Amino acid sequence: MPLNPSVAKSHVLHRALAYEPQKIVSGSGISFTLESGKIVYDASAGPSVSVLGHHQPEVTQAIIEQLDKIAYVYSGSRHTCEAAESLATEILKDAPGGLVKAIFVNSGSEATDAALKLATQYFCEVGQPKRTNFIARKQSYHGNTLGALSVSGHESRRAYYQPWISNNVSFVDPCYSYRAKGLSESNEQYVERLKLQLEDEFLRLGPDTVAAFVAETVSGTTLGCVPPVPGYFKAVREICDKYGALLILDEIMCGMGKTGTMHAWEQEGISGPDIQMIGKALGGGFVPLSGVLLNRKVFDGLARGTMVLAHGHTFQAHPTACAAALAVQKIIKRENILEQVVRMGDFLETELNEEIGHLAHVGDIRGRGLFWAVEFMRDPNTKTPFLAEHNFSNRIVEVAAELGLNILGNLGKTGKIDVELVILAPPYIVKEDEIKAIVQLLKTAIFVVSEEHA
Ligand code: PLP
Repeated sequence: MPLNPSVAKSHVLHRALAYEPQKIVSGSGISFTLESGKIVYDASAGPSVSVLGHHQPEVTQAIIEQLDKIAYVYSGSRHTCEAAESLATEILKDAPGGLVKAIFVNSGSEATDAALKLATQYFCEVGQPKRTNFIARKQSYHGNTLGALSVSGHESRRAYYQPWISNNVSFVDPCYSYRAKGLSESNEQYVERLKLQLEDEFLRLGPDTVAAFVAETVSGTTLGCVPPVPGYFKAVREICDKYGALLILDEIMCGMGKTGTMHAWEQEGISGPDIQMIGKALGGGFVPLSGVLLNRKVFDGLARGTMVLAHGHTFQAHPTACAAALAVQKIIKRENILEQVVRMGDFLETELNEEIGHLAHVGDIRGRGLFWAVEFMRDPNTKTPFLAEHNFSNRIVEVAAELGLNILGNLGKTGKIDVELVILAPPYIVKEDEIKAIVQLLKTAIFVVSEEHA
């Protein structure tokens, strides 16, 4: 078959086959520079990754020092390195939420796969091998590998791979009050409805067959920075405990400080998850690194049986990656950066509400810390959504890019509810004047695209 003439010439295979990607040649602070010389505000820190910005001499130094000591250590059998040990100690100091052990892998998807496998092995080791079912949420995303995709309710990402995807996963509604809470329903009633639905699913499957419930604490790309309704995760924790299942929280996108606390679940009034995935902000994009954290119960269970994890990767706990992430985490702590996340987050919220809250198609502005989304509606008064074919938010992302603003938009059809949104998750080092500039550029982009739909 002849090649489609619109296919991009790049030898790198990019996600959009026809799209000729723009080269980024350098970065500093919260901006990057394109080959053309254009400077772009990275208002989403890539996909919510570059939390200390695009250049940090201390992190560079930590990487060089590690490479000067030793470049690679295989930590799959008898060895470890100081960087991995110190990083785990730093993250697990004082056992947050009872979390006591860490596994470091290379991507968020690998972390999700590891979490699912650890939960499954845990139940085998403690003598409950029938617990092989997982309950996850519709319109969710936990990664692209086949295990992670199995617990992701993201329709377009799953579509081609159905034959490979596990049937051991069922899906309940996410907590998404803007579109799914009834008009006269109180928060408490909404939580009760979701709790009953989750409990019904446990009962339908047979409670002693459920290994875990999997959810993002604050939903990222698929629904757009949706903080849970107060009491939601308490209710979820209660159901998991009642039926002896584990709670697995995905904080790959929303965790490691983005919502103003190191872990987003700290704001949910729960003691913590049993297993947690972390990523993105862990290494701040200087290196690929993600992780899985386990609490005492899960670790003790695993340590009861064969004493060998049936899981591992060649590059797990890579010394350079751990050294860079350790430097990132030390800077965050030493500079009290989470206080800045809260302060700048409040400022961003106010700017968004004041500057764009009144615009024609702005339906909802929501988020926490420096993790915010704007959801668009054809008619916000009646909550009439745009259809996917209107391509509304993707146009906003395009126009914003032309204006020198990088933000995240919709990533394919995620589920039954069409959510048109953009995400702003600027680096933790963002300043007030930069937030003002970002919001003004977004305002212009919304204005331009709204005119196209007038
Ligand atoms: N989980 C969540 C919530 C994510 O947002 C992502 C990536 O966007 C992943 C998992 C997968 O992470 P990765 O792309 O590093 O594999």
